[in-house]
Amino acid sequence: MPRPIRAEISLAALRHNYRRAKQAAPDARVFAVVKANAYGHGIAQAVAAWGGADGFATLELDSAISLRAAGITAPILLLEGFFDASELPVLAEHGLWTVVHSTWQAEALAAARRAGVAVDQLEYFLKLNTGMNRLGLDAAGGKIVLDALRALPARRVTLMTHFSDADGDAGVTHQMTRLAAMRDELAAAGPPAAGLDMSVANSAAMLRYAETHGAWVRPGIILYGASPFTDESAAQLGLQPAMTLRSRIIAEQHLAPGSRVGYGGMFAADRPMRVGIVACGYADGYPRHAPSGTPLLVDGVRTRTVGRVSMDMLTADLTDLPAARTGSDVTLWGEGMPIDEVAHAADTKSYELMCGLAARVPVIVTGA
Ligand SMILES: *Cc1c(COP(=O)(O)O)cnc(C)c1O
Repeated sequence: MPRPIRAEISLAALRHNYRRAKQAAPDARVFAVVKANAYGHGIAQAVAAWGGADGFATLELDSAISLRAAGITAPILLLEGFFDASELPVLAEHGLWTVVHSTWQAEALAAARRAGVAVDQLEYFLKLNTGMNRLGLDAAGGKIVLDALRALPARRVTLMTHFSDADGDAGVTHQMTRLAAMRDELAAAGPPAAGLDMSVANSAAMLRYAETHGAWVRPGIILYGASPFTDESAAQLGLQPAMTLRSRIIAEQHLAPGSRVGYGGMFAADRPMRVGIVACGYADGYPRHAPSGTPLLVDGVRTRTVGRVSMDMLTADLTDLPAARTGSDVTLWGEGMPIDEVAHAADTKSYELMCGLAARVPVIVTGA
């Protein structure tokens, strides 16, 4: 028998969550965000579940090309745009829409068009910096790029921005106000700016702020069945976990009071204990910094980790689970064990756990 760890990806859950996103923003089109190998779920699984999605958004060129190779004809948006002018013939060949977040990109587009690259067949998302101060142009830069795109002539320009606090107390108002002002400034500079579409909402914004929906919403995390919020769970949001990381107990140990577990002896038994060794460690993508007490399921019953997570193993407390033994099923996260709870215990986010699933973990597709 092979090492028992595996990640089950539920196509049924992926489909359910996409429907949930559509329902949350009924008047917008939905880009299924599939960057980082579909948040660790696999591009093939994204295609199998969402072949009929309104569009896909990613930022690795190879994943965009593999979507086209899989037969996706819907719009595909490159969220960080192109990194070098040499990629533009590839964008034109595959009909990939791109974000433009810097003035050099507008110059590169104009030069490519002069060189005969069919960049005027594409659509462009003009990225504005409304306060996150990561990618995006200010009003002056936005005007330069918009003028350049009009001269292409671009088929359509959609204004885009990204929120820093859509999931938190600060919300989106300050950035929406700045976006409206920048949009007015661009519109004043001439048509067709007045008709500029908008794409601003990530998962958190689209669920909480209907005014952010615009032409295209860009959900990622909710499609995979995790919550973008700390005060509302995935189940409360009507989402289903798409990735379930499972393994088994491969050995047991009995601990006398005072015995320690794992590297550094970080956990000491305070009573006679029984623990199970789980075939899952940080080289599988389980967070090394998950402390003793991080929840997990053994044969469907909730218990906790004890001691340090090592490269290939971690330890589950079986003291109060008399039926659990070598061979028992373990759920690290997913069905029955919300990934958001594991992430919270490990002081991280579900995003990082999903994206960190290691290549050595076999993937099993369910719900086809
Ligand atoms: C990753 C990403 C998203 C999706 O964010 P979620 O919080 O996962 O919904 C949306 N827009 C951009 C620009 C992104 O990079």
